[in-house]
Parts: sequence; C-alpha cells; structure tokens
Amino acid sequence: CGIIGILGSHEVSPQLVDALRRLEYRGYDSAGVATVDASGRLDRRRAVGKLVNLSDRLVHDPLPGHAGIGHTRWATHGPATEVNAHPHQSGPVAVVHNGIIENFRELREELASLGIQPQSQTDTETVALWTAHYMAAGASPVEAARKTLARLKGAFALAFLFDGEQDLMIAARKGSPLAIGHGDGEMFIGSDAVALAPFTDRITYLEDGDHAVLTRAGVQIFDAAGNRTHRAEARIDTGT
Ligand code: GLU
Repeated sequence: CGIIGILGSHEVSPQLVDALRRLEYRGYDSAGVATVDASGRLDRRRAVGKLVNLSDRLVHDPLPGHAGIGHTRWATHGPATEVNAHPHQSGPVAVVHNGIIENFRELREELASLGIQPQSQTDTETVALWTAHYMAAGASPVEAARKTLARLKGAFALAFLFDGEQDLMIAARKGSPLAIGHGDGEMFIGSDAVALAPFTDRITYLEDGDHAVLTRAGVQIFDAAGNRTHRAEARIDTGT
C-alpha cells in the first residue's frame, strides 16, 4: 500500500526500507525491494509480514545498488505470499504497484495466447510481463512502459525499474496519488511527501493520468494524452 523509488548516490536498500517504514501507517501484509547494482543487474528481495522480515532478509542476502524501488503490499488479488509480493519482475523489468488493474484477466489471457505464463496470482504481474514482452519485441524501456500503460484500466500508482539502467525510473499515476521528490543529483518517487521527507522537501505531485521519466538529472512529466507537461514544484513541510 506504499511505493518508494530512489535514484540515489548511496546504497539504496536501507533508504528504501526506511521510507517503507514511514508508509507502514497505511497498512500492509508484505514488502519488497528491487535494485539495479553497479554492474547494471536488476534483482529483488521480498518478504511476507512485517518490514523487519524484509530487513532481516537484506542483512543475510544484501541487495547492492544506488537505484531502487520498494513496496508495501495490501493484497487485493492473490494471497499474501512471497511469490505475490512486489516488486514483480519479468526479465529486464521490475514493477511496484498500488491499486487494482481492472482488466488484468484480459491482459493475462492475451499473454497466455502468446505462451507467456505468470508466476503469481496478482493483477500487477501482468504489467511487468507486458512491459518485458514489448522490450523483447524491440521497444526501449520508456516505449515499453508507455505501451503497457496505455493498456491498463483501473486505479493505480506504478513504478518501473530496468535491468542495465542505473539512471532510469518510470512512474505513473491514475487514481492513486504519487509524488516526485527532487534531490541534489538524486531523484525520488513516493506515495506521499512523508515517505520522501528524509530525502527532500521539494515535491511535485503527479496529476491523474500523468507518467514521469526520471533520471538523476531531473524529471520529464507527460500528461494523459502523452504530451510533455509541467507540474509545479513546491516545498512541503511534513513536520518530520
Ligand atoms: N493489486 C495489487 C496486489 O494485490 C496491489 C495491492 C496494493 O495496493 O498494495 O498485489
């Protein structure tokens, strides 16, 4: 029920878990993080239950990297198991998602007709599978995410991270809030300004239907029609 994303300049796993702690108040049943390490390798760790289970996992099985996404899940489709926990990964793409992909059944059936089978019971995994499918067909990460977003019905906040891309993150919102945080040579996304408070107070809220392409140098925001747009940046005092 919470999303965090960091294009940072330090090891992000501990930062991701700290931010997820700030989102605990929303409730959750499992949690996970994915990072891209210095060699460009995308990998993830997930755990059912409290965040301490995830942080314990990370102690025994660390996840290096300066770029990462994290998630606390409140299951809507598929029970609270490790396989259903986010991030969902398919080949070169990892996805975290809050909300519901209403047309996931159709999306999944079409994947089945292409011989692509999901590992989990979630609506979310279809997003990762379609994005990976478009990439396998030659689309760039940004193009593949856009093609996938155009097919989604429902209410969602989404973040994408890609293998081989240490300086790229894509975020999208439709119905669920999502904030962009501006750092100094770092960029962030989060479900709210509270999650981003340890990193920055410079916040831009995405509007409904927007998607954002982030690098450490900044963010490009596109509206529901796909046109480049500007959303105001504000200083948010979260009192924390
Ligand atoms: N519908 C997704 C799932 O059940 C996301 C739930 C959430 O918002 O955490 O995995």
